[in-house]
Amino acid sequence: MKTWLKGYLLLEKDIGSSSYRKEVTGNFVILFSFFLLITLTISNFFFSSLPIFYTNLGLLAALFLTFFLFKSNKKHIVHAIAVVMCLGIFLIVYINQGQGYTPIWSFLFIYLIMSLYGHKKGLAISGIFLLTLLAVLAKWLGEGISSLEYVRFAFVSLFTLFFAYLAELLIARTFKKLHATQLKLEKMTKTDALTGLHNRRHFNETLVEKINSAKRSKELLALAIIDIDHFKMHNDKFGHPAGDAALVALAKLLQETMKRSDDVLFRLGGEEFALLYKPKDDVSAIALLEKIRHAVEQLDISQGVVERITISAGLSLIKPHYNTSFEQVYKATDDLLYQAKELGRNRVVVSP
Ligand code: GH3
Ligand code: MG
Ligand code: MG
Repeated sequence: MKTWLKGYLLLEKDIGSSSYRKEVTGNFVILFSFFLLITLTISNFFFSSLPIFYTNLGLLAALFLTFFLFKSNKKHIVHAIAVVMCLGIFLIVYINQGQGYTPIWSFLFIYLIMSLYGHKKGLAISGIFLLTLLAVLAKWLGEGISSLEYVRFAFVSLFTLFFAYLAELLIARTFKKLHATQLKLEKMTKTDALTGLHNRRHFNETLVEKINSAKRSKELLALAIIDIDHFKMHNDKFGHPAGDAALVALAKLLQETMKRSDDVLFRLGGEEFALLYKPKDDVSAIALLEKIRHAVEQLDISQGVVERITISAGLSLIKPHYNTSFEQVYKATDDLLYQAKELGRNRVVVSP
Protein backbone atom coordinates (compact mmCIF):
# COMPACT_ATOMS: atom_id res chain seq x y z
CA MET A 1 0.00 0.00 0.00
CA LYS A 2 2.78 2.39 1.00
CA THR A 3 4.76 1.64 -2.15
CA TRP A 4 1.65 1.99 -4.29
CA LEU A 5 0.81 5.36 -2.70
CA LYS A 6 4.36 6.61 -3.20
CA GLY A 7 4.23 5.53 -6.82
CA TYR A 8 0.78 7.01 -7.43
CA LEU A 9 1.71 10.35 -5.88
CA LEU A 10 4.99 10.34 -7.91
CA LEU A 11 6.97 10.81 -4.70
CA GLU A 12 9.94 8.89 -6.03
CA LYS A 13 9.97 10.70 -9.36
CA ASP A 14 12.67 13.23 -10.07
CA ILE A 15 11.52 16.84 -9.68
CA GLY A 16 12.04 17.36 -13.39
CA SER A 17 9.79 20.27 -14.19
CA SER A 18 7.73 22.98 -12.58
CA SER A 19 4.57 20.97 -13.28
CA TYR A 20 5.71 18.25 -10.85
CA ARG A 21 3.95 19.84 -7.89
CA LYS A 22 0.74 20.25 -9.88
CA GLU A 23 0.92 16.64 -11.04
CA VAL A 24 1.31 15.35 -7.46
CA THR A 25 -1.52 17.56 -6.20
CA GLY A 26 -3.68 16.51 -9.16
CA ASN A 27 -3.17 12.84 -8.35
CA PHE A 28 -3.94 13.52 -4.71
CA VAL A 29 -7.15 15.34 -5.65
CA ILE A 30 -8.33 12.40 -7.77
CA LEU A 31 -7.52 9.88 -5.05
CA PHE A 32 -9.12 12.02 -2.39
CA SER A 33 -12.29 12.46 -4.48
CA PHE A 34 -12.70 8.72 -4.99
CA PHE A 35 -12.12 8.08 -1.30
CA LEU A 36 -14.53 10.79 -0.20
CA LEU A 37 -17.31 9.88 -2.61
CA ILE A 38 -17.09 6.14 -1.88
CA THR A 39 -17.17 6.82 1.88
CA LEU A 40 -20.08 9.25 1.52
CA THR A 41 -22.08 6.96 -0.75
CA ILE A 42 -21.73 4.00 1.63
CA SER A 43 -22.53 6.02 4.74
CA ASN A 44 -25.42 7.79 2.97
CA PHE A 45 -26.91 4.43 2.11
CA PHE A 46 -27.20 3.58 5.81
CA PHE A 47 -27.67 6.94 7.49
CA SER A 48 -29.12 9.49 5.03
CA SER A 49 -32.15 9.99 2.86
CA LEU A 50 -32.35 8.30 -0.52
CA PRO A 51 -32.01 11.52 -2.59
CA ILE A 52 -28.66 12.32 -0.90
CA PHE A 53 -27.51 8.75 -1.46
CA TYR A 54 -28.42 8.95 -5.16
CA THR A 55 -26.76 12.35 -5.53
CA ASN A 56 -23.46 10.97 -4.23
CA LEU A 57 -23.84 7.79 -6.23
CA GLY A 58 -24.34 9.93 -9.33
CA LEU A 59 -21.26 11.98 -8.53
CA LEU A 60 -19.25 8.82 -7.98
CA ALA A 61 -20.43 7.42 -11.33
CA ALA A 62 -19.54 10.74 -13.02
CA LEU A 63 -16.09 10.63 -11.45
CA PHE A 64 -15.53 7.07 -12.70
CA LEU A 65 -16.70 8.06 -16.16
CA THR A 66 -14.50 11.19 -16.30
CA PHE A 67 -11.59 9.15 -15.00
CA PHE A 68 -11.85 6.58 -17.78
CA LEU A 69 -12.58 9.16 -20.47
CA PHE A 70 -9.65 11.44 -19.64
CA LYS A 71 -7.25 8.90 -18.23
CA SER A 72 -4.46 10.09 -20.50
CA ASN A 73 -5.02 13.75 -19.68
CA LYS A 74 -5.58 13.93 -15.95
CA LYS A 75 -5.62 17.75 -16.05
CA HIS A 76 -9.21 17.73 -17.33
CA ILE A 77 -10.33 15.43 -14.51
CA VAL A 78 -8.66 17.65 -11.93
CA HIS A 79 -10.25 20.85 -13.33
CA ALA A 80 -13.65 19.16 -13.30
CA ILE A 81 -13.16 17.95 -9.72
CA ALA A 82 -12.15 21.47 -8.62
CA VAL A 83 -15.37 22.91 -10.06
CA VAL A 84 -17.54 20.16 -8.55
CA MET A 85 -15.78 20.56 -5.22
CA CYS A 86 -16.44 24.31 -5.21
CA LEU A 87 -20.12 23.86 -6.07
CA GLY A 88 -20.34 20.96 -3.59
CA ILE A 89 -19.04 23.10 -0.73
CA PHE A 90 -21.58 25.84 -1.49
CA LEU A 91 -24.33 23.27 -1.73
CA ILE A 92 -23.68 21.58 1.62
CA VAL A 93 -23.11 24.92 3.34
CA TYR A 94 -26.40 26.12 1.88
CA ILE A 95 -28.38 22.99 2.75
CA ASN A 96 -27.01 23.01 6.29
CA GLN A 97 -27.34 26.79 6.58
CA GLY A 98 -23.70 27.07 7.58
CA GLN A 99 -24.14 24.67 10.49
CA GLY A 100 -22.38 21.45 11.41
CA TYR A 101 -18.86 22.64 10.53
CA THR A 102 -19.77 22.55 6.82
CA PRO A 103 -17.71 25.68 5.89
CA ILE A 104 -14.61 23.87 7.19
CA TRP A 105 -14.11 22.30 3.72
CA SER A 106 -13.02 25.68 2.43
CA PHE A 107 -9.63 25.37 4.16
CA LEU A 108 -8.76 22.21 2.25
CA PHE A 109 -10.14 23.76 -0.94
CA ILE A 110 -7.90 26.83 -0.62
CA TYR A 111 -4.74 24.73 -0.22
CA LEU A 112 -5.60 22.43 -3.10
CA ILE A 113 -6.45 25.30 -5.45
CA MET A 114 -3.27 27.17 -4.55
CA SER A 115 -1.18 24.09 -5.25
CA LEU A 116 -3.04 23.23 -8.46
CA TYR A 117 -3.10 26.65 -10.07
CA GLY A 118 -0.07 28.39 -8.57
CA HIS A 119 -0.01 31.40 -6.26
CA LYS A 120 -1.39 34.04 -8.66
CA LYS A 121 -4.34 32.18 -10.15
CA GLY A 122 -4.76 30.35 -6.84
CA LEU A 123 -5.17 33.62 -4.94
CA ALA A 124 -7.71 34.92 -7.44
CA ILE A 125 -9.81 31.72 -7.45
CA SER A 126 -9.62 31.12 -3.68
CA GLY A 127 -10.19 34.81 -2.95
CA ILE A 128 -13.42 34.90 -4.98
CA PHE A 129 -14.49 31.57 -3.50
CA LEU A 130 -13.90 32.71 0.08
CA LEU A 131 -15.55 36.12 -0.30
CA THR A 132 -18.60 34.48 -1.88
CA LEU A 133 -18.72 31.94 0.93
CA LEU A 134 -18.52 34.70 3.54
CA ALA A 135 -21.31 36.55 1.76
CA VAL A 136 -23.45 33.39 1.76
CA LEU A 137 -22.74 32.76 5.45
CA ALA A 138 -23.66 36.37 6.29
CA LYS A 139 -27.22 35.40 5.29
CA TRP A 140 -27.61 33.43 8.55
CA LEU A 141 -25.74 35.93 10.72
CA GLY A 142 -27.55 36.41 14.00
CA GLU A 143 -29.81 33.42 13.22
CA GLY A 144 -27.92 30.15 12.99
CA ILE A 145 -24.47 31.75 13.16
CA SER A 146 -23.37 34.08 15.95
CA SER A 147 -21.31 37.20 15.18
CA LEU A 148 -18.38 35.77 17.10
CA GLU A 149 -18.50 32.53 15.09
CA TYR A 150 -18.70 34.48 11.87
CA VAL A 151 -15.77 36.80 12.71
CA ARG A 152 -13.71 33.84 13.87
CA PHE A 153 -14.34 31.95 10.65
CA ALA A 154 -13.67 35.03 8.51
CA PHE A 155 -10.37 35.75 10.27
CA VAL A 156 -9.03 32.21 10.21
CA SER A 157 -10.07 31.59 6.62
CA LEU A 158 -8.61 34.86 5.34
CA PHE A 159 -5.34 34.23 7.18
CA THR A 160 -5.29 30.69 5.81
CA LEU A 161 -5.78 32.10 2.34
CA PHE A 162 -2.97 34.58 2.83
CA PHE A 163 -0.60 31.99 4.26
CA ALA A 164 -1.42 29.42 1.57
CA TYR A 165 -0.59 32.12 -0.97
CA LEU A 166 2.66 32.93 0.80
CA ALA A 167 3.68 29.26 1.05
CA GLU A 168 2.93 28.70 -2.62
CA LEU A 169 4.86 31.83 -3.58
CA LEU A 170 7.88 30.61 -1.60
CA ILE A 171 7.69 27.16 -3.14
CA ALA A 172 7.45 28.65 -6.64
CA ARG A 173 10.43 30.93 -6.00
CA THR A 174 12.50 28.11 -4.52
CA PHE A 175 11.63 25.91 -7.47
CA LYS A 176 12.55 28.59 -9.99
CA LYS A 177 15.89 29.12 -8.30
CA LEU A 178 16.55 25.38 -8.12
CA HIS A 179 15.71 24.98 -11.78
CA ALA A 180 17.96 27.87 -12.83
CA THR A 181 20.84 26.48 -10.76
CA GLN A 182 20.28 23.03 -12.26
CA LEU A 183 20.44 24.46 -15.79
CA LYS A 184 23.53 26.51 -14.99
CA LEU A 185 25.26 23.52 -13.48
CA GLU A 186 24.35 21.32 -16.41
CA LYS A 187 25.71 23.91 -18.80
CA MET A 188 28.88 24.26 -16.75
CA THR A 189 29.61 20.55 -16.82
CA LYS A 190 29.32 20.60 -20.59
CA THR A 191 31.21 23.79 -21.33
CA ASP A 192 34.89 24.57 -21.70
CA ALA A 193 35.67 27.51 -19.43
CA LEU A 194 38.21 29.24 -21.69
CA THR A 195 36.45 29.13 -25.05
CA GLY A 196 32.82 28.59 -24.15
CA LEU A 197 32.65 25.64 -26.58
CA HIS A 198 31.41 22.25 -25.47
CA ASN A 199 33.96 20.23 -23.56
CA ARG A 200 35.34 16.73 -23.86
CA ARG A 201 32.82 15.20 -21.48
CA HIS A 202 29.99 16.37 -23.68
CA PHE A 203 31.85 15.26 -26.82
CA ASN A 204 31.67 11.58 -25.97
CA GLU A 205 27.91 11.53 -25.45
CA THR A 206 27.19 13.84 -28.40
CA LEU A 207 29.25 11.76 -30.83
CA VAL A 208 27.32 8.62 -29.90
CA GLU A 209 23.99 10.46 -30.27
CA LYS A 210 24.96 12.07 -33.58
CA ILE A 211 26.18 8.79 -35.11
CA ASN A 212 22.90 7.11 -34.19
CA SER A 213 20.67 9.95 -35.35
CA ALA A 214 22.55 10.34 -38.67
CA LYS A 215 22.15 6.62 -39.22
CA ARG A 216 18.41 6.85 -38.59
CA SER A 217 17.92 9.84 -40.88
CA LYS A 218 20.32 8.37 -43.45
CA GLU A 219 22.46 11.48 -43.49
CA LEU A 220 26.16 11.99 -43.89
CA LEU A 221 27.95 12.96 -40.69
CA ALA A 222 31.37 14.60 -40.55
CA LEU A 223 33.78 14.53 -37.63
CA ALA A 224 36.86 16.73 -37.79
CA ILE A 225 39.59 16.84 -35.18
CA ILE A 226 41.68 19.98 -35.40
CA ASP A 227 45.00 20.66 -33.68
CA ILE A 228 47.06 23.86 -33.70
CA ASP A 229 50.51 23.31 -35.19
CA HIS A 230 53.61 23.85 -33.07
CA PHE A 231 51.55 25.41 -30.35
CA LYS A 232 54.13 24.64 -27.71
CA MET A 233 56.59 26.83 -29.59
CA HIS A 234 53.99 29.61 -29.85
CA ASN A 235 53.45 29.40 -26.11
CA ASP A 236 57.14 29.34 -25.30
CA LYS A 237 57.79 32.33 -27.53
CA PHE A 238 54.84 34.57 -26.58
CA GLY A 239 53.75 33.24 -23.20
CA HIS A 240 50.74 31.34 -21.97
CA PRO A 241 48.28 34.30 -21.96
CA ALA A 242 49.02 34.92 -25.66
CA GLY A 243 48.45 31.19 -26.25
CA ASP A 244 45.11 31.42 -24.49
CA ALA A 245 44.15 34.39 -26.65
CA ALA A 246 44.96 32.36 -29.76
CA LEU A 247 42.75 29.51 -28.51
CA VAL A 248 39.88 31.92 -27.91
CA ALA A 249 40.37 33.48 -31.36
CA LEU A 250 40.29 30.08 -33.02
CA ALA A 251 37.16 29.10 -31.10
CA LYS A 252 35.49 32.35 -32.19
CA LEU A 253 36.42 31.71 -35.80
CA LEU A 254 34.95 28.21 -35.61
CA GLN A 255 31.74 29.55 -34.07
CA GLU A 256 31.42 32.21 -36.75
CA THR A 257 31.98 29.70 -39.54
CA MET A 258 29.75 26.95 -38.21
CA LYS A 259 26.38 28.40 -37.36
CA ARG A 260 24.00 25.71 -38.56
CA SER A 261 21.77 24.10 -36.00
CA ASP A 262 23.37 20.71 -36.63
CA ASP A 263 26.91 21.98 -36.08
CA VAL A 264 28.49 21.16 -32.72
CA LEU A 265 31.89 22.47 -31.66
CA PHE A 266 34.12 21.14 -28.92
CA ARG A 267 37.42 21.91 -27.31
CA LEU A 268 38.70 18.45 -26.55
CA GLY A 269 41.58 19.76 -24.44
CA GLY A 270 44.76 21.79 -24.89
CA GLU A 271 44.88 23.04 -28.48
CA GLU A 272 42.70 20.29 -29.87
CA PHE A 273 39.17 20.94 -31.17
CA ALA A 274 36.47 18.76 -32.68
CA LEU A 275 33.72 19.64 -35.12
CA LEU A 276 30.60 17.60 -35.79
CA TYR A 277 28.48 18.60 -38.76
CA LYS A 278 26.14 17.25 -41.40
CA PRO A 279 27.51 18.22 -44.82
CA LYS A 280 25.59 17.85 -48.06
CA ASP A 281 28.28 15.58 -49.50
CA ASP A 282 31.97 14.68 -49.20
CA VAL A 283 33.08 17.66 -51.30
CA SER A 284 31.27 20.25 -49.18
CA ALA A 285 32.54 18.58 -45.99
CA ILE A 286 36.13 19.01 -47.15
CA ALA A 287 35.48 22.50 -48.53
CA LEU A 288 34.22 23.71 -45.16
CA LEU A 289 37.28 22.44 -43.36
CA GLU A 290 39.63 23.90 -45.99
CA LYS A 291 37.83 27.22 -45.60
CA ILE A 292 38.50 27.09 -41.86
CA ARG A 293 42.14 26.15 -42.41
CA HIS A 294 42.61 29.15 -44.71
CA ALA A 295 40.82 31.49 -42.34
CA VAL A 296 43.10 30.36 -39.47
CA GLU A 297 46.13 31.29 -41.59
CA GLN A 298 44.66 34.78 -41.84
CA LEU A 299 44.01 35.19 -38.09
CA ASP A 300 46.10 38.13 -36.91
CA ILE A 301 46.84 40.31 -33.95
CA SER A 302 43.53 42.17 -34.27
CA GLN A 303 41.91 38.88 -33.37
CA GLY A 304 44.25 38.14 -30.47
CA VAL A 305 46.86 36.07 -32.26
CA VAL A 306 50.39 37.49 -31.86
CA GLU A 307 51.87 35.41 -34.65
CA ARG A 308 50.19 33.53 -37.47
CA ILE A 309 49.03 30.07 -36.48
CA THR A 310 48.10 27.09 -38.61
CA ILE A 311 46.05 24.00 -37.96
CA SER A 312 46.12 20.39 -39.04
CA ALA A 313 42.95 18.34 -39.23
CA GLY A 314 41.72 14.81 -39.60
CA LEU A 315 38.32 14.45 -41.23
CA SER A 316 36.10 11.36 -41.07
CA LEU A 317 33.07 11.12 -43.30
CA ILE A 318 30.65 8.79 -41.58
CA LYS A 319 28.16 7.33 -44.05
CA PRO A 320 24.83 6.11 -42.70
CA HIS A 321 25.43 2.51 -43.80
CA TYR A 322 28.74 2.29 -41.90
CA ASN A 323 28.58 0.19 -38.81
CA THR A 324 31.12 2.03 -36.73
CA SER A 325 31.30 2.57 -33.02
CA PHE A 326 32.07 5.87 -31.39
CA GLU A 327 35.52 4.60 -30.35
CA GLN A 328 36.37 3.47 -33.89
CA VAL A 329 35.33 6.80 -35.42
CA TYR A 330 37.28 8.78 -32.87
CA LYS A 331 40.41 6.65 -33.22
CA ALA A 332 40.27 6.78 -37.05
CA THR A 333 39.91 10.58 -37.06
CA ASP A 334 42.73 10.98 -34.58
CA ASP A 335 44.93 8.80 -36.84
CA LEU A 336 44.07 11.07 -39.78
CA LEU A 337 45.13 14.09 -37.74
CA TYR A 338 48.39 12.33 -36.94
CA GLN A 339 48.93 11.73 -40.68
CA ALA A 340 48.31 15.44 -41.36
CA LYS A 341 51.06 16.27 -38.86
CA GLU A 342 53.39 13.69 -40.37
CA LEU A 343 52.79 15.05 -43.87
CA GLY A 344 54.05 18.49 -42.83
CA ARG A 345 51.12 20.14 -40.92
CA ASN A 346 48.76 22.93 -42.05
CA ARG A 347 46.64 20.47 -43.98
CA VAL A 348 43.46 18.37 -43.89
CA VAL A 349 43.59 14.58 -44.28
CA VAL A 350 40.30 12.93 -45.15
CA SER A 351 39.19 9.36 -44.55
CA PRO A 352 39.59 7.25 -47.69
P1 GH3 B 1 52.01 19.73 -32.97
O1 GH3 B 1 52.14 20.59 -34.18
O2 GH3 B 1 52.60 18.37 -33.18
O3 GH3 B 1 50.64 19.63 -32.50
O4 GH3 B 1 52.88 20.42 -31.84
P2 GH3 B 1 52.36 21.18 -30.58
O5 GH3 B 1 53.49 21.94 -29.98
O6 GH3 B 1 51.15 21.94 -30.92
O7 GH3 B 1 51.87 19.96 -29.68
P3 GH3 B 1 52.28 19.54 -28.24
O8 GH3 B 1 51.31 18.46 -27.87
O9 GH3 B 1 53.74 19.21 -28.17
O10 GH3 B 1 52.04 20.80 -27.35
C1 GH3 B 1 50.80 21.29 -27.09
C2 GH3 B 1 50.94 22.57 -26.34
O11 GH3 B 1 49.72 23.22 -26.16
C3 GH3 B 1 51.52 22.39 -24.97
C4 GH3 B 1 50.95 23.51 -24.18
O12 GH3 B 1 51.94 24.51 -24.00
C5 GH3 B 1 49.87 24.09 -25.06
N1 GH3 B 1 48.59 24.18 -24.36
C6 GH3 B 1 47.77 23.17 -24.00
N2 GH3 B 1 46.69 23.67 -23.37
C7 GH3 B 1 46.84 25.01 -23.34
C8 GH3 B 1 46.07 26.09 -22.81
O13 GH3 B 1 44.99 25.92 -22.23
N3 GH3 B 1 46.54 27.36 -22.95
C9 GH3 B 1 47.72 27.59 -23.59
N4 GH3 B 1 48.14 28.84 -23.71
N5 GH3 B 1 48.46 26.60 -24.06
C10 GH3 B 1 48.05 25.33 -23.96
MG1 MG C 1 49.43 20.94 -31.58
MG1 MG D 1 47.71 18.48 -29.40
